[in-house]
Amino acid sequence: MKSIQSNIKKAKKYLDNNHCIAVPTETVYGLAGNAYSDSAVKKIFKLKKRPMNNPLIVHYHNINKLKEDCYINDNFLKLYNKFSPGPITYVLQLKKKSKISKFVSNKQKSLAVRFPKHPLFKKLLKNLKYPLAAPSANISNKLSSVQASDVIEEFGSKLKYILNGGKSQIGLESTIINLIKKPTILRFGGLDYLKIEKILKKKIFIKTNPNKKIAPGQSFLHYSPGIPLRVNIKKPKKNEAFILIKKRKNTLKNYYYLSKKSNLKQSAKNLYSLLRKIKKDGYNMIAVEKIPNEGIGKTINDRLSRASKYKTKWRAC
Ligand code: AMP
Ligand code: MG
Repeated sequence: MKSIQSNIKKAKKYLDNNHCIAVPTETVYGLAGNAYSDSAVKKIFKLKKRPMNNPLIVHYHNINKLKEDCYINDNFLKLYNKFSPGPITYVLQLKKKSKISKFVSNKQKSLAVRFPKHPLFKKLLKNLKYPLAAPSANISNKLSSVQASDVIEEFGSKLKYILNGGKSQIGLESTIINLIKKPTILRFGGLDYLKIEKILKKKIFIKTNPNKKIAPGQSFLHYSPGIPLRVNIKKPKKNEAFILIKKRKNTLKNYYYLSKKSNLKQSAKNLYSLLRKIKKDGYNMIAVEKIPNEGIGKTINDRLSRASKYKTKWRAC
């Protein structure tokens, strides 16, 4: 308990001085900085090598603080009351008098906001006078981090501090929904959009791959382990690592199971770590068997499909 308090204090000190730190969330680790500070926000983009036109998600402790920066509406309230804190990000209209740094949303009039559930992150936010801009703690386009060791792999000594909160429970990023006009899913994520439809009592639009790119999570190459990956494979090639969800009778050395019992939630939690492990084990090609496209399986398939767009020539987005 004492160490929790002192770690939060340390984290707060870095943030109050406009430094970036890594924070644990229930989805993936975030690279956090004061969302009201231009210099802190610019540091996030620099560390991640993220294009400045790719807006950040801002994390709030509660709705009262959010109201200072954004307009809210009925759809937001329905979803907030049901699903927040949790793995859902809302895109709302930014207020003119908001203190959010203009670099967060690339001078757009919208803001993506989330209320994280991880107890350490919540405690940290409660202790701060500002919300935290926190994109995933990874170099742009690469695999998100789901534990402190991943964050070290991504940033090494460039990062001042990691608030260690263990392994992320969900292991995949939040679901993003634009609520400014008609509710529209911009990214599949930790919360099944069918649950959102149930609460809003209507069909919602899905625009995870629009012609005009809005969210980088929508771009075709993303969440990549940095080596070629093929999906829906029945039989792998000789030198490929093979990711499976269903237990096979004969397990070979190159077989990697997403979960012990074909469980989709477990698979989501393990996905990024498994991809990192396969790379460390020396494979330079990955095949993945068909993953059921239901519940969080839809998000697993979305991430795998984007990772499968990897070509040897790296494409920035
Ligand atoms: P990450 O923080 O790495 O999980 O990525 C955050 C995602 O939220 C990116 O895909 C952003 O493009 C998206 N995002 C952030 N702000 C906005 C916004 N104002 N409108 C639409 N998408 C946004
Ligand atoms: Mg990301």
